[in-house]
Amino acid sequence: MIYWDQEKECMPLEQLRELQLRRLKETVYRVYAFVPAYQKKMDEAGVKPDDIKTLDDLKKLPFTTKQDLRDNYPFGLFAVPMSEVVRIHSSSGTTGKPTVVGYTRKDIDIWAELMARALISAGATRHSVIQNAYGYGLFTGGLGVHYGAEKIGASVIPSSGGNTKRQIMLMQDFGTTILTCTPSYALFMYEVMKEMGIDPADLKLKAGIFGAEPWSENMRREIENNLKIDAYDIYGLSEIIGPGVAIECSYKNGLHIAEDHFIAEIIDPETGEVLEDGRQGELVITAITKEALPIIRYRTRDLTALDRTPCACGRTHVRMQKVLGRSDDMVIIRGVNVFPSMVESVLLNIPGVEPYYLLVVDRRGNLDELEVHVEVSEKIFSDEIRKLEELEDLIRRELESALGIGVKVRLVEPKSIERSEGKAKRVIDRRKI
Ligand SMILES: [Zn+2]
Repeated sequence: MIYWDQEKECMPLEQLRELQLRRLKETVYRVYAFVPAYQKKMDEAGVKPDDIKTLDDLKKLPFTTKQDLRDNYPFGLFAVPMSEVVRIHSSSGTTGKPTVVGYTRKDIDIWAELMARALISAGATRHSVIQNAYGYGLFTGGLGVHYGAEKIGASVIPSSGGNTKRQIMLMQDFGTTILTCTPSYALFMYEVMKEMGIDPADLKLKAGIFGAEPWSENMRREIENNLKIDAYDIYGLSEIIGPGVAIECSYKNGLHIAEDHFIAEIIDPETGEVLEDGRQGELVITAITKEALPIIRYRTRDLTALDRTPCACGRTHVRMQKVLGRSDDMVIIRGVNVFPSMVESVLLNIPGVEPYYLLVVDRRGNLDELEVHVEVSEKIFSDEIRKLEELEDLIRRELESALGIGVKVRLVEPKSIERSEGKAKRVIDRRKI
């Protein structure tokens, strides 16, 4: 099976746009009628539901941000009474109040459909054994994948995050064919496999579906070569629905956004102006089928670009580029925007460098400094000092030419950078302290 829902995934564009417009209009009427916060924002912007006559009119509507979710904490943006809500998820809320999202029974069904599409797109079947190492709980990753995997009839192992040795034992004993987790956790699993003397080629693992953090093409190559699998990128965020908003197909040339449920735009993050296809900017998503938490023009803070050229897989839905970074993770050093994924891309092209790194930003006097801590392999680390200095120098030159700013490089001992069983920490910014 190539598609989960061919009719929807390969819908002719004209029909797809018609469906989007109808659903957008319904959604706008509904939020205006039932969510006072939306009504207020629309009134302030001077736009009424009747003003939405074409898809292009979407840009008349105000944006929704994480702050709007916080301001209406916990349930202020819900468009249905709580008696209709069957599930509540929440972000970790590392700064301030967490963001809360709710689902009706129909929302949960749609989410499971989207995840079913995503899993099939990454090659899963009802014969797959899917080990789901995304965290189960308030985080949407675990349960999101879980319901989709059951929907397609695969066997799910709800291993959740952590306890890496046990994860690997389950993989061996239960014959896991598909692994779902963050890309950084997949790499850490490989490292623990090596320590345990397990060759990934002896496992039944065929594919991995990795998301919840940005990762580079070089990181994909690293994971595919190490674990001997196909690695697919999946995209989603809890504010929109959770994982399954977009997924790569076997061509791995961008992630198809489920356009029958979401409308994607790219904006200039500074001005809010909508950019044409192909240009890089902030992804903005409108969820047009959600009941409990319909969301209008949500600013994701993820930087990407849209590609509407036809895809060889036959799906008609627009593709978004692999996310370059979250604007939250971006550090501005002497006026230059630096994303961890850019550093990752450079490092993983250099032999002897391990896929573990940390950006440390500090301010000396009035000058911002970027120091990149890079882990090297055991073999390199035991080399003579001169060779280490040569490597350090090579990394510095490569980073400086890629980033366009001066960089300090510090080679650190193997296994000294903290490993992650969820989202990896890539930046320490000491300037804020
Ligand atoms: Zn495709």
